Amino acid sequence: MKLARNIIIALVAGVFVGLILNLFAPGLFLKADAFIFKPLGTIFLNLMKMLVVPVVFISIALGTIGIGDPKKLGRIGGKTIGFFLITTAIALVIALSLGLLFKPGASGNFETSTAVYEAQEAPPIADTLLGIIPTNPITAMAEGNMLQIIFFAALVGFGIAMLGKKVGKVKVLFEQANELIMYLITFVMKFAPYGAFGLIASAIGSQGFDALRAMGMYMGVVLGGLFIHSILIYGGAVALLGKRSPVWFFKNFFPAQVVAFSTSSSAATLPISLKTAQEKLKVPESISSFTQSLGATINMDGTAIMQGAAVIFIAQAYSIDLSTGQLLIVILTAVLASIGTAAVPGAGLIMLAMVLTAVGLPVEGIALVLGVDRLLDMVRTAVNITGDAACAVCVAQSEGVLGEPDNNGAKMM
Ligand code: ASP
Repeated sequence: MKLARNIIIALVAGVFVGLILNLFAPGLFLKADAFIFKPLGTIFLNLMKMLVVPVVFISIALGTIGIGDPKKLGRIGGKTIGFFLITTAIALVIALSLGLLFKPGASGNFETSTAVYEAQEAPPIADTLLGIIPTNPITAMAEGNMLQIIFFAALVGFGIAMLGKKVGKVKVLFEQANELIMYLITFVMKFAPYGAFGLIASAIGSQGFDALRAMGMYMGVVLGGLFIHSILIYGGAVALLGKRSPVWFFKNFFPAQVVAFSTSSSAATLPISLKTAQEKLKVPESISSFTQSLGATINMDGTAIMQGAAVIFIAQAYSIDLSTGQLLIVILTAVLASIGTAAVPGAGLIMLAMVLTAVGLPVEGIALVLGVDRLLDMVRTAVNITGDAACAVCVAQSEGVLGEPDNNGAKMM
């Protein structure tokens, strides 16, 4: 909590410094950005990223050892993926409805003839899913291929569980490695406020608030969608399925959200979101590691909301009417796109190209939303990881293993 407070102070200071430099000393900003802001941000991001592969490998293996029974593993996997798909589809319905209701693209008369955007090749979803079995686990780790690492780690954990006493020492090794990595996370997080300051000063200083004015309506729709989805869907799921107070949930998970907000990367935030869910939300390690690591990679409701809103915005800006069938295609492709989106800053925008193409909208339209995306990315990343934690709480409760909250008022009947 103290850490979250310090990060927030750093964020506020960063916004302030970035904005002042942007308005009054753009030349000085470039220097400060190159020598102070960017380095601070990069040091922090790298420190966090450094831990991601070992955290995922160790904690998934340990989680699978804990679950042991393959039937139980399949059941937990099924519940997790079911939760992910349903909430992402709901996220899209919310975003599309808000977009159709508030017409963000119709209000501003956007200049579409000059919009240019070089679409990058989005990785085909089928490849992502088929490529889940690593031919070389070391390469998977070296490349940070999350799904492959998860697959291999689960298999290793499964083997250790099956062999039992025979490999008792290997199990102890994983347990102790986990202690070590949790300590390192706490240690590295001491740098978080400085990193957050650098990241936000850099983002605000290079964009200023100009871009924001024209895009107010679009931003409003995205932020409104993110807010509604978090409160209603995650809050509702935590209350009904997790049997915990939503207020308790959001309050205790807040430190991880702040880190996601500063880094705009679900992957870089994973170490701290695992730790927060296990220590504060009392999700057992076996479920938290599995659900949240998988979720950081494939479950991105915040990204889906941005994509839904952007599709509607771009269609309206180009005066193209979307049929109900096309809206359904948007939901389907955006669910797939959010699975394929890499958990790094700005990735959601690359996948947006795929959704636009699926319904025949001009990919150049992305240029219209590009200016404000950096800031929206921060908020949607916080929502992305909140969905994973909400899922972890619900799955743990359904398995009857959610720990007792520190404060009894957190319980719901
Ligand atoms: N930055 C997001 C994340 O890491 C992905 C995106 O929407 O760009 O969760």
